[in-house]
Amino acid sequence: MAQFARQSVHQSGAAPAVIPLTAALGAFPDGVAVCGRDGIIVAANPALHRLSGYPQGTLVGLELGQLLPRIGVAEALNAAMVSERRDSVARRTDGALLPVEVTLGSFRDGAGGYLLATVRDIARRLHSEQQLRDSATRDGLTGLLNRTTLMQVGEVEILRARRYSRSVSLIMIDVDHFKRINDAHGHPAGDQVLQAVAETCRRSLRSCDVVARYGGEEFVILLPETGTDGAVNVAERIRRNATRIALDSADVAITISAGVAVLGTGILDLGALISAADRALYRAKRTGRDRVEIA
Ligand code: GH3
Ligand code: MG
Ligand code: MG
Repeated sequence: MAQFARQSVHQSGAAPAVIPLTAALGAFPDGVAVCGRDGIIVAANPALHRLSGYPQGTLVGLELGQLLPRIGVAEALNAAMVSERRDSVARRTDGALLPVEVTLGSFRDGAGGYLLATVRDIARRLHSEQQLRDSATRDGLTGLLNRTTLMQVGEVEILRARRYSRSVSLIMIDVDHFKRINDAHGHPAGDQVLQAVAETCRRSLRSCDVVARYGGEEFVILLPETGTDGAVNVAERIRRNATRIALDSADVAITISAGVAVLGTGILDLGALISAADRALYRAKRTGRDRVEIA
C-alpha cells in the first residue's frame, strides 16, 4: 500500500508537531484516495480498500475513474480548482455499484497537481431515507399506498384524464364481515388476511394502476385508461381470487364486495368518483355481499 507521508504542521504558538498522517488516514472510516494528473491513484487508505473490495495495496496504480466512474475525474483534473461534494457510485471489484458520497479537492504540490477524493458508503443512509419516505406514503401493514398518497396521485391522474379526455375508473373494495374474522381468529390473523387481500389486489393490476389501503379493511384501486368493463373485470378477478387465505394457524374463507365507478357525467373529480364507488359498494353489501356493483 502506498504510504501517506508524515507531515509537519505548525500549531499556533507551539513548536512544529509531526502528526502520523498515514496512521490517521488508516484510522479514518471513509475511503481516501489521491491521484496525480494522469488520474492514476498514488495513495489509498484501508477504508477505501474495504469499501471497494480491492485487496489491501491493490488500489495504487488503478485509474480513479475506474473506481468512481461517474465523477468525471478528467474534468476535475483539468479544472483550476475543485472543491465539491456529491452523491455518486463506486464500482467494486466484483462490478457491483455501491452508492457513495464523494468529496473532491484538488491541490498542488511543487510541479504536480493532485486530486483528493474521500468516499463514504451511503447505502444505509439511502436505505433509511427510503424507509422514511415509505413511512410517509405507504401503509405500514400492507405496504400499499396510504390514503393521503392515493388522494395526491389520484388528483393528478384525474386532471390528466380530463385534459386528454381519457377514461379513469375506481374500484372500492371492502372485506365482508371482517369483524367476524377478527373475532374468530384474533386480530393478528385479521392482519394477515388484510396483507393477503392487498397482495391479491397488487397481483391483479398493471404497473400504471394505483392501489391503496383506504381504511381498515377497505382498499381503493384507481385504473387509468380503463372504462366500466375493464374495471369490472379487474374487480371480479380480485373477488374470485380472494376467497381462501392460508394463515399460519388455519385457512380462512373470506369474501369481498366491490363498487366500481367511472369518471364521466356527474362524476368529475376524485371525491365524486370515490363517493360513487362507495355508493355502489354499499349496494353490493345490501344485496348480499360477495359481489361487484357498478355506480
Ligand atoms: P361488512 O361486511 O359490512 O363490511 O362488515 P365488517 O365486519 O367487515 O365491517 P365493520 O366496519 O363492522 O368492521 C370492520 C372491522 O375491521 C372492524 C375493525 O376492528 C377491523 N379492522 C380495522 N382495521 C384493522 C386492522 O388493521 N387489522 C385488523 N385485524 N382489523 C382491523
Ligand atoms: Mg368497511
Ligand atoms: Mg367490511
